[in-house]
Amino acid sequence: MTDVHEVFDAVDVIRTKRDGRTLTDGQIRWFLTEYTAGRVADEQAAALLMAILWRGMDPRELDQWTAAMIATGERLDLSGAGRPTVDKHSTGGVGDKVSLALVPLVAACGAAVPQLSGRGLGHTGGTLDKMEAIPGWRARLDADEMVRILRTVGGVICAAGPGLAPADRKLYALRDVTGTVESIPLIASSIMSKKIAEGTDALVLDVKVGGGAFMSDVGQARLLAETMVSLGHAAGVRTTALLTAMDTPLGRAVGNAVEVTEAEEVLAGGGPADLVEVTLALAREMLALAGIDADPDTVRHDGRGLRTWRAMVAAQGGDVAATLPVASLRHVVRSPSTGFVTRLDARAVGVAVWRLGAGRARKEDTVSTTAGLWCHAKPGDAVENGQPVLELAVDDPSRLPDALAALDGAFTIGPEPPAPVPLILDRITA
Ligand code: URA
Repeated sequence: MTDVHEVFDAVDVIRTKRDGRTLTDGQIRWFLTEYTAGRVADEQAAALLMAILWRGMDPRELDQWTAAMIATGERLDLSGAGRPTVDKHSTGGVGDKVSLALVPLVAACGAAVPQLSGRGLGHTGGTLDKMEAIPGWRARLDADEMVRILRTVGGVICAAGPGLAPADRKLYALRDVTGTVESIPLIASSIMSKKIAEGTDALVLDVKVGGGAFMSDVGQARLLAETMVSLGHAAGVRTTALLTAMDTPLGRAVGNAVEVTEAEEVLAGGGPADLVEVTLALAREMLALAGIDADPDTVRHDGRGLRTWRAMVAAQGGDVAATLPVASLRHVVRSPSTGFVTRLDARAVGVAVWRLGAGRARKEDTVSTTAGLWCHAKPGDAVENGQPVLELAVDDPSRLPDALAALDGAFTIGPEPPAPVPLILDRITA
């Protein structure tokens, strides 16, 4: 056991990792505590991050690093929810509105789902940005309100407060400007420190793989998933992961308000088959970890999922009866030939929607609620020459040319349908 107040030298800590040696628990705790408090300089933290990116961390070191990140802030106590708690985290994809349908479905089955989410940055959208398309809905809740809604309704989607793993906030901003984002131990500890601090008993990770995802290589995605599952278990959080495909947008709608509408279709028993498949697979994982024997597809069809969604939205000030805002301008992209859609590039679609204004380039940017895109045809669908494949929606027409440029070459039409590809690529358990 190391004394928290034991003092180390930042340069020695950096040299230890630079030279490929293992950091001690004391070094890790000291460095992260002092950096969060502003007593270790950004340039020293940047040097250590670069050394970690090159040298890696062994599993025990990474457990300690993650625990020390959590210890820089608070860990929520959700025992007042009175139900088993279970959450989901996705590494982010295009059209990924799964949380909006999943949280109420799993809550309607009897679990408490404390989903603390972030805002979108870059070509993948953020869950809070989507929820904020609902008039009156508010993302900020204090811990007491959150626990009360978990107890009464069962599901919460809200902003993670600044008190959860504050070390990550500083480190992530630093990684962003020092070329140190792409390190599996740093990504895994960043994600898991926030999820463990949230106080959930169990966690399901949706690690997206493909051109529209953070990771396009299945081997790297599997390693990330295994690392995060192991960190969850080390911290006493029952954790599993699914690797799911993200080469094509999930569902048909991409944007903020348009994705809320599509999630409501899923909750009403309809919705696109791919979105339903991923949502139900994750829901089943979550319910198994929570020890609840219920079928999420039943609550999707019998109205309980939709009722829970409405109660969740209303509990956070949202107007469940309001019509969601729509864009003033539409633009249709048509098929240049007759055949089958063989490819629809998720990243190109994500960039197009981002350029329409639905996403942000910098943290402080505001997003458009109405900007969005519908995929009228997806891989495997037969199309006639001139048939609509994509439809864009925007209020500001000056954004359209750049969005259309991103879609240049985004889909391919061929004479034969493509071979079907699985959506759920792997399942990782401890
Ligand atoms: N998301 C996070 O929260 N952290 C990372 O490092 C990468 C993605």
